[in-house]
Amino acid sequence: MGPSQIKKMPPISIPEIAPTVVANRLLPMTVKKWLTGLMAGLVLCGNTAAKPVVHTVSGPVAADELGTVLAHEHVLVDFVGADLVSPERYDRAEVIEKMLPFIEAAQAAGVETMVECTPMFIGRDSRLLAELSERTGMRFVTNTGLYGAVNDKFLPPYAWTETAEQLADRWITEFRDGIDGTGIKPGFIKSAVDRDAEMSAVDAKLIHAAALTHLETGLTIAVHTGPGPGLAQLDILAEHDVAPSAWIWVHAQGAKDADVLEAAKRGAWISLDGIRGRSVDQHLSRILMLRATGHLDQVLISHDAGWYDPAKPNGGEPRGYTLLFEEMIPRLLGAGLSVAEIDQLLTTNPARALTVNVRRDNAL
Ligand SMILES: [Zn+2]
Repeated sequence: MGPSQIKKMPPISIPEIAPTVVANRLLPMTVKKWLTGLMAGLVLCGNTAAKPVVHTVSGPVAADELGTVLAHEHVLVDFVGADLVSPERYDRAEVIEKMLPFIEAAQAAGVETMVECTPMFIGRDSRLLAELSERTGMRFVTNTGLYGAVNDKFLPPYAWTETAEQLADRWITEFRDGIDGTGIKPGFIKSAVDRDAEMSAVDAKLIHAAALTHLETGLTIAVHTGPGPGLAQLDILAEHDVAPSAWIWVHAQGAKDADVLEAAKRGAWISLDGIRGRSVDQHLSRILMLRATGHLDQVLISHDAGWYDPAKPNGGEPRGYTLLFEEMIPRLLGAGLSVAEIDQLLTTNPARALTVNVRRDNAL
C-alpha cells in the first residue's frame, strides 16, 4: 500500500481511539484528513495496541494479516428450514472431502481468508469450518445473528417472542463465550431481511438486535438485502447511533444504482457478491460506477458460491470460488483499474469492513 492510498482511506476507527464521529462532526477538513492519515498510519506501522483484530474460526488474526479475502462465500447451506436443520443431516468428513478441492483451488488463486456467510438455522457449522481450516490452512470467519429473509423460514420460534435486547444478548454471548461450546467467536453479525419495501416487524427487530450487538461487540453487521430495504436499515442503525460504516449491504448487485449510491454516500459498505458467469458485466459496471463516484474504498466483491447442500445427493454440485480471479479481475484491469485498486478490493477493504468498530460511546 502506497502513501497515495493511505491518503485516500476514509476514517478508520480503532477500538482504543475512535475519532471518527468527533472528526466528522466537529473538525475542519484539513484536520479530518490529518486524523485519517494518523489512524491509517497507526495500523500500518504495526502498533499492536491499536491493531484491529478479526476473529476467525481458528482464533484472532490482525486485520492486516488476513491477506486476500473472499468477503461472502459458503461452505455449507441447508435450506430445510429452522425447524429441521441440524448437523445430523450430514457427515462432516464427507462435507470436507467434497469441499476440499474447491477450497484448495481458491488457495491456489491466492485466497487466504474466506468470510463464510451461512447463518445459524440455515447450516452454520463452526466445527466444520474449524476442521476445514485445520486441514487446509484457509482461514474462515463465521458469524452470529438471524436470517429473516425467505419469509422467515429460517427463524426459530424465539425470534418472534423475544425482544431485540434478548436476541442481542444471545449474539453477544456467542461473541463473549464462543459458539455452541466451541470457544469459536463470530467475526461479524449476519442477518437478512425480506425484499418488501416496508420491513416486517420481525425483520426490523433483527436489525435493532444487530445494532445493539454491534454496540457491545464492535462486530460489523452484514445484512442480506439485495433489492430490499437497505436505506431503512441505515435509519434503524442511526437510532442506535451506529455509523453506516458498520453495515454491509449484502447482494447490493441486485439493488438500484441510486439506492446503492445513497448508501455509499452515507458511508455503508457495498457488497457485490454474486459474481458468476452471467453477472460479470453487471458487476463490472457497478464497480466502475462506485469507483467513478469515489466509493471504491467501500466495495467488497465475492462469489456467494459453494456449497455442500445436505438435501442433495452427495451434497450437490458446488460452484467454485475462482471466477473472480479468472474473469472478473482481468475485466477490471482491462477497464482501467490498477493493481493497487484490485488489491484494495480484495485485501484492504474486507479487512477494514470487518474491523470498522465505530462506537460513539468510546469516541474521543
Ligand atoms: Zn450468501
